[in-house]
Order: sequence, then C-alpha cells, then structure tokens
Amino acid sequence: MIEESQEQYEKMKLTRKRTQKALQHAIKYADRADIAPIWKTALVGTVQFPYLSYPLLEQTGIVKHCFTTRFGGVSKGMFESLNLSFSRGDEHAAVEENFHRVSQALGVDYGKFVFTDQTHTTNVKRVCLEDAGKGLTRERGYSDVDGLITNEAGVVLSTFYADCVPLYFVDVSNHAIGLSHSGWRGTVRRMGHVTLEAMRREFGSKPEEVVCAVGPSICQDCYEVGKEVAEEFIQEFPSYRQEILKDKGNGKYQLDLWRTNEIILLEAGIKPEHLSVTDICTCCNSKILFSHRASHGKRGNLGAFLCLKP
Ligand SMILES: [Zn+2]
Repeated sequence: MIEESQEQYEKMKLTRKRTQKALQHAIKYADRADIAPIWKTALVGTVQFPYLSYPLLEQTGIVKHCFTTRFGGVSKGMFESLNLSFSRGDEHAAVEENFHRVSQALGVDYGKFVFTDQTHTTNVKRVCLEDAGKGLTRERGYSDVDGLITNEAGVVLSTFYADCVPLYFVDVSNHAIGLSHSGWRGTVRRMGHVTLEAMRREFGSKPEEVVCAVGPSICQDCYEVGKEVAEEFIQEFPSYRQEILKDKGNGKYQLDLWRTNEIILLEAGIKPEHLSVTDICTCCNSKILFSHRASHGKRGNLGAFLCLKP
C-alpha cells in the first residue's frame, strides 16, 4: 500500500539546503542514502497522501514514523489541506478527517495518538497505552509537555510544527522511542539532551545506541532573531558562536537551529552515523509545508509522529 515516490518529490520542487557542517557530514557518509528525509506516498482510499520519512529511522525496523506536509487533507483556505491543529480556527470535523488520513497512511490506530501540549518548555512525559487518544479522542489531562517518550508498542507519539524543530529518537536495544518539539527556547535549553536523559532514566537508554533525526524546520537564512535571543545562544554555546549565528550588523542575527540541535545531540553522546539532520526548510517551502514566518501566523500545523511497531 505504501510506496516510495521520489518522483512525487521532484514534482513538488522541494528546496533542499544543507548547512556547511551538515554538508561535510553528508559527504562523509555519501555512500549511505539515509541521511536526508525522502518522500513517500500512501494511498488513502483514492487519495494520494505524501509525507516525509527518514530512512535512518526506517532502517531500525522497529518504528513507524512520518513528518506530514500540507497535502492529502480536507481543510480549506489558509489551512489547506492537511491542518493538524484544533486550536487555530479550522473546522473540527476537517481536522478529525485529517487525522483519520494520517492514521491510515501510517497504518496506526486512530484511537492511539497521544498529543503533546506544546508551550516551549523542556518537559518530557512518559506515556503508555493507558494514555491512548489523549488530545484527539479525549481530554489530555496534562499541560506544558513538549516531549513524549514511551516503550509501549502502538502508542503514537504526536507533536506539531510550523517552523520549530522536531527531534526523533529510537532506541532499538531497549525498544523505546522519544519525540520532542524544540523551538528556539527548547533548543537553547537543550531539549534534545533533556529527552535523552528522560529515556536514560526511564528505559536505560544509552545515547551511543540511540538513532536520531532532526526534522524539517526553519533554516538559518529564513530565521532572523533579535539581540536578546542571540545572546542567550552565545551564552549557552560560546565556542560555536560563529557556526550558529550570523551577525547582520543591525542588531539582528540569523540563527541556525539545525546546526545547534546537531551540536546538542552530538555533545549528548549521539554518534554522527546515527544522526540524520534535515535539509528541508519549512519557510523556504511554504507552499508544501506550513511555516509560521512565511505566512505571518496564518497557517495550520504539520505533524511529526513516531510509534513502536507491535
Ligand atoms: Zn529557509
């Protein structure tokens, strides 16, 4: 039912970019085709449902995962078409139908999604089958959760984006996974490291065994920040200042969230060969992906999903 479709991606003219470091990384592992996210397409009824997939995560053999696009849903207007937010003004029934399509495309149960409650914290919550449906089919009962971890098969960890950075974690040895939302606030507080610590504490995960992906999000060229944000990053990552910030000289800076998350994960003990960093920017590709910056806030949400196979 699901087939790879690089052709589909060519048709969509997706702009790909690599940071210099990531480029070096890609060259070093050039014999491996698993560094960048690729297009896949599922058939949902008669509808083509494209999504992005990480070969590195796929190769673990123990998970189902995806990063969604604007295509394949039923929402209209600025939510066109696969909006996954119930709280930005879209019709409830349309968003529910969109989730039905994600569940079919991914081959997971509609009743087993478990949502974050993203407020730019570094709070990571362990969830299990008892939490199934929270956020979608029933009340969450928790708030301020930006990361989810589990070791139970079937639970679909669910996080939401429109420029912020998704972080995926798969620990094959301990049969455990994690998924975290890392915007600039999460990144400067090292959400990737915090999530790995939670997995170590709860499941005994060792960072050197964990496979990890930094998902589609805003690139350095598109991400201008002010002096206060830049200074927080300089303070937290003093030796990487030149790599992660471009000083525009007018009190504004271009911040590289991809490279910063790569640094955080490598420093936390992830092996370079177990790490896949996106080359796809949500803002450069705002016709294909929802971008908060590109749309000035008039947008829906994309979703990152991760689930242990039964
Ligand atoms: Zn960009």
